[in-house]
Amino acid sequence: MAAVDVTTGRDIPADVQDFLDGAGVLVIDGEERAASGGATFDTVDPASEEVLASIPQATEDDVDAAVQAAKRAHLDGRWRTLPAAKKARILFKVGDAIQKQAESIAWVDMLDHGKPHKHAMGEMIAAANCFRYFAGWVDKVYGDTIPVRDGRFVYSTREPVGVCGQIIPWNFPFLMAAWKIAPALAFGNTVVLKPAEQTPLSALWLIRILKECGVPDGVANLVQGVGEVTGAALVAHPDVDKIAFTGSTEVGKMIMRSAADNLHKVTLELGGKSPNLIFPDAGDISRVAKKAAFACFYNAGEVCTAGTRLVVDRSIHDEVVEQVAKAADATKVGPGWADDTAMGPLVSDEQLQRVKGYIDIASGEGAELVAGGGQPEEYEKGFFLRPTVFDGVVTEMRIAQEEVFGPVLAIQSFDDEDEAIALANDVSFGLAAAVWTRDVGRAHRVAGAIKAGTVWVNTYGELDNPVSFGGFKQSGIGRELGPHAVEAYTQVKSVWVATS
Ligand code: ADP
Repeated sequence: MAAVDVTTGRDIPADVQDFLDGAGVLVIDGEERAASGGATFDTVDPASEEVLASIPQATEDDVDAAVQAAKRAHLDGRWRTLPAAKKARILFKVGDAIQKQAESIAWVDMLDHGKPHKHAMGEMIAAANCFRYFAGWVDKVYGDTIPVRDGRFVYSTREPVGVCGQIIPWNFPFLMAAWKIAPALAFGNTVVLKPAEQTPLSALWLIRILKECGVPDGVANLVQGVGEVTGAALVAHPDVDKIAFTGSTEVGKMIMRSAADNLHKVTLELGGKSPNLIFPDAGDISRVAKKAAFACFYNAGEVCTAGTRLVVDRSIHDEVVEQVAKAADATKVGPGWADDTAMGPLVSDEQLQRVKGYIDIASGEGAELVAGGGQPEEYEKGFFLRPTVFDGVVTEMRIAQEEVFGPVLAIQSFDDEDEAIALANDVSFGLAAAVWTRDVGRAHRVAGAIKAGTVWVNTYGELDNPVSFGGFKQSGIGRELGPHAVEAYTQVKSVWVATS
């Protein structure tokens, strides 16, 4: 096959190039500066393999400076004590600014992560709406009066937790930053954000928007660097009150162990191995198969809720496998800037090698490769991988149990509803699941029986700000978004007053 120049169409807009040229900074107490040690690391465009920017590697001292800035801002109340209406107005303004600059920020995430620009645009609108949703919460969090006995008046308040250390992954860089910062600020906290080292860029854009819209200096701080250094320093810092983490289950466990020393409050949004259950009465098989392929291959499979296990009734198995393999082969793999791209590269060479390793493992375990399995031949550069489908997967295989975080789908079969539910639940994760059936009784029965924080019926992957999100089992602790975010970012104080 003739080589295709992957950089065709990579015409970086001037404002995005300006941003990249100045992206090598931390933001501490409102000041943009280099790391104290002077060390840097490069962030790379996974499609062209070009270096996008050199980013400061924050030291323990830098993390300490950021935490101290956030602590001062918390204690002096420069944000917490602003009138609720003013805080809300600022957060609404942030939402509008994100929407206005969405095209450019989407370019940044596309270059840094690899995703198609049109998908990144959807994430920008979701991020804008996240700020608007939480802006609406600012003046709606309050406590109770509690009747106890004569002569005593007891009431409760909900107060900010304080300094929130927030560590985010590389799959939805800007959106994850919004999911973390918007609720934390809405409920009066201050933050130190650490983006993933693979995708450090767009968080800086957000921090600048916050400042422009009136969030006081020191309230939202940005540190950059590898997890084992910068992330670990943040988690271990005694003046951090809460850690909010989204990432792998393995690192989530380490964070929880480390947070135990200071009894930091933690919320963890971790991995998944989400089952997508197709019953014989699911309707048009080719439509459902296309949706199932999209559920796994969207964002190159780098999604914690990806539908990576297709659990299919044996009577429709052959047709589903054929249609899913067809949909996988038809998925256009390419750079994010090409209009016809449905799936970009993986985020890094390391991730590509990891996912290829799982493809080898699945083949070695006896799973049958029915689509993909390697890199597309037309590109000489880039961490591209073809959407890959394995049939004949059984529960005991690692490909049925472990999170791959790449475009690799494992197909399992069942004979009846009980077996389908058993297969769905036979993993250590419990983040999400889907059920495809036209039988309303079955839909609710199976949704009720699945151990997962989110279940979709006849759809996949939908999330929205008013809907709480999080994991059962080893997929996490706590909930983000929706009313449950109040629990994550406030703490209750009870006040006893002697009235006689
Ligand atoms: P992945 O393995 O898919 O890269 P990780 O869970 O390692 O996902 O990364 C998610 C986030 O956690 C990133 O911001 C990363 O830098 C951070 N991280 C990784 N290791 C640690 C650690 N030991 N302590 C704190 N943060 C970490």
